[in-house]
Amino acid sequence: MALIVQKYGGTSVGSLERIQAVADRVIRTRRTGHDVVVVVSAMSGETDRLLDLARGLSGRPIERELDVLLSTGEQVTIALLSIALQEKGQDAVSFTGAQVRILTDSAFNKARILDIDGAQVRKALTEGKVVVVAGFQGIDGEGNITTLGRGGSDTTAVAMAAALKADECSIYTDVDGVYTADPRIVPEASRLDRISYEEMLEMASLGSKVLQIRSVEFAGKYHVPLRVLSSFKDGPGTLITDEDEAMEQALIAGIAHNRDEAKLTIVGVPDRPGIAHSILGPIADANIEVDMIVQNVGADKTTDLTFTVHRNDYDKAHDILQRTAKEMGAKGVNGDKRIVKLSIIGVGMRSHAGIASRMFKALANEGINIQMISTSEIKISVVVDEKYLELGVRALHSAFGLDKGTGKNG
Ligand code: ADP
Ligand code: ASP
Ligand code: MG
Repeated sequence: MALIVQKYGGTSVGSLERIQAVADRVIRTRRTGHDVVVVVSAMSGETDRLLDLARGLSGRPIERELDVLLSTGEQVTIALLSIALQEKGQDAVSFTGAQVRILTDSAFNKARILDIDGAQVRKALTEGKVVVVAGFQGIDGEGNITTLGRGGSDTTAVAMAAALKADECSIYTDVDGVYTADPRIVPEASRLDRISYEEMLEMASLGSKVLQIRSVEFAGKYHVPLRVLSSFKDGPGTLITDEDEAMEQALIAGIAHNRDEAKLTIVGVPDRPGIAHSILGPIADANIEVDMIVQNVGADKTTDLTFTVHRNDYDKAHDILQRTAKEMGAKGVNGDKRIVKLSIIGVGMRSHAGIASRMFKALANEGINIQMISTSEIKISVVVDEKYLELGVRALHSAFGLDKGTGKNG
C-alpha cells in the first residue's frame, strides 16, 4: 500500500460539481488500496476576492490580519471536500494548517515552512480516513496564522509528502502537465514527459507559475517524486525528478516569461569603488529584492547602473534611487515598468556552445530589441519591451525546435 499526496488547485475545486469530481478521483485512488492525503486550494478567484475586501479598507492592510483573512478560503474547500467524500461513502476528515501543526516562520504573507508534526494526519490515516489538508497556510511559534505566498498550496502538498514520506505527490491542475512554454501563450507548446528538479526550479523562478518555486525546492531537497497532472482528463502528466542522461540530450527544456518585473537606471554616476553598494544598499535595506543588474562605464568615466525589481516595488525603489542620485551627484534616474523577461532553460546548455547567439538571432529576426541580458549555467534571460512578450516567446520556442511535431517532444 502506497501513500499518495494529491493537491487540487483553485480551478479544480472552483464549484460544487468540480469538488464532487475531485471526491470521485480521490475515491478511485483510495479504492486501489492507497492511503490518500489531499491538499486543496481555495476556490478559484476566492483569494483575490478576499484581498480586494481588505484593500477596500486599507491601502496597506496589516500583514498578520491579511493572513487570518486569506486562510479562510482554504478552510472552506477542506470542509466542502470532506463533506462530498463522506456523502459518497468515503470516511474523511479535514484539517487546517494549524491543526496539522504546519509550523512556519513569522513572515506573514510569505512564510516558510519549518516543520510539520503530522501525528494527527497519520492517526486519521490508520483509521482508514482520507485526510484533507488546507493548502497555503501554517502557524508560527506564537500560534499566529501564516500564509505561504501566492500559489503556496503546491508547497504545502510537497512538504506534507516529504514529512509523511509519501510515495508520490500529484499536483492536479487545469493543464495536463508542464509544457515547453505557457500553453496560454504558445499554442504549439508540448507537454514534457519528464523534467529535472533543477530545470523546473529555474522555470518556476523565471516565471512559469505552474508550480510555486518553494514546492520545487522542497521536492528536490527531499527527493519527493512530483507529478503535474490534469484534474479534468486522465493522462501521464509530467514527472519532475532527478536529472537523467536522456534529459541531458535535450538542449532546451522550455521557455519561461515573467511580466512582474520593472527596470530602473541611475545615470551618470561617478565611477569609483563602492558605488554599486551605495546604490543597491538602500534598496536592500528597504527589503526590495533586486533581480538582474547591469553596469557599464562610459568614456566620460561615469557609469550607468540598471537593475530590475518586482513591479510592486517599483515606486518605492524609484523614490529611494532618486534620493541616492541626489546624494551621489548622479545625472538622473530613468525607469520602465513596461518590460518583460524572457528566458530559455535547459541542462543541455552546459555541454553546448552557441545557444546564446541562437537566442539573440531569433529575437533579432523579429526586430525585438534586447535591453538586458543575464546568464547562468542552465539559463539565459533577456529583458525586452512588454509588447514583444507573445512574439518573443513564440520566436524562441520555434527557434529551439520546441514547436509540436518538430522537436524532441513532438
Ligand atoms: P492551480 O490553480 O491549479 O494551482 P495555476 O494557475 O497556479 O493552477 O497553474 C496552472 C497554470 O500555469 C496553467 O493554466 C498555465 O497557464 C500556467 N503555466 C505557465 N507556464 C506553464 C508551463 N510551462 N506549463 C504548464 N502550465 C504553465
Ligand atoms: N489560494 C492561494 C492562492 O490563490 C494558494 C494557492 O492557490 O495555491 O494563491
Ligand atoms: Mg498554482
